[in-house]
Amino acid sequence: MGKPGSQTGVWEPECKIAPQEMKRYLIPGASRGIGRAIAMKLAAPDVMLLLHGRDTVALAETCRAVEKSGGKTAKLIHDLANFRGIDDLVAEVGHKPIDLLVNNAGVAVVKPFAEITRQEWEQTIGVNVTAPFFLIQHFAPRMPPGSSIVNILSIAAKTAYPNWSAYCGSKFALEGLSTAIREELRSRKVRMLNIYPAATDTDIWNGVSGEWPREQMMSAVDVAEAVTFAINQPPAVIIENITLSNTTGTL
Ligand code: NAP
Repeated sequence: MGKPGSQTGVWEPECKIAPQEMKRYLIPGASRGIGRAIAMKLAAPDVMLLLHGRDTVALAETCRAVEKSGGKTAKLIHDLANFRGIDDLVAEVGHKPIDLLVNNAGVAVVKPFAEITRQEWEQTIGVNVTAPFFLIQHFAPRMPPGSSIVNILSIAAKTAYPNWSAYCGSKFALEGLSTAIREELRSRKVRMLNIYPAATDTDIWNGVSGEWPREQMMSAVDVAEAVTFAINQPPAVIIENITLSNTTGTL
């Protein structure tokens, strides 16, 4: 049966959205964990999800899951710990503006500060601070009014914990720079949202020594729900900060 007013007389329920009408969402670190959960929540027929990771197998798994829920995906594979990877990601995303940037990729090196190597420091600052800063610097001026930049910070962006010096330093830094840039972006109506999750059960904990009660942690989906809620507010509203903690307290 033809859709009323259609030229062809053929009702086409599948996605027939012209490429220029598709929204473009960029999610670095979408190969697993919180990034994957956000990608799955945001999957929609009118959205092109530009999904980034380094692990090609895990990233392909995210893309498959998103496409199953009706989303369209493109895979971007770059190491964000260095400028070459950041530049290559930017080049691959191309000139067309994006409507959402989720600064999610992150690493956690957890050990006494005296034992942190230069390489671990560079890796932490590169992925957790330098990449978000330069991605914001590149993309924000091209984003349309009402679009959003989401930074996945941590409660470690506000609270210091022993052995988390590099991680806390990187998250405090990202909080500082993003909060300042939020003020610069107000006149362009681009929204900067900071999310501060407490412990969330993802692979990031596999590399953290010690006993952690994974079953008591929030899920990546809990964080993704908060992100979706925040970006779906009217364009003139910014939910500036969301802290998500476990009902039973800090783990
Ligand atoms: P995760 O499961 O380990 O995922 C981390 C993501 O970051 C992966 O997609 C990973 O890609 C990517 N990544 C890591 N190093 C990278 C590099 N050098 N270049 C490019 N991409 C890189 O961790 P998660 O818990 O979902 O973490 C996501 C964000 O949430 C991070 O910013 C983290 O700090 C923050 N956060 C996590 C928690 C928590 O308890 N889990 C709490 C608060 C905030 P590949 O795996 O493909 O390499």
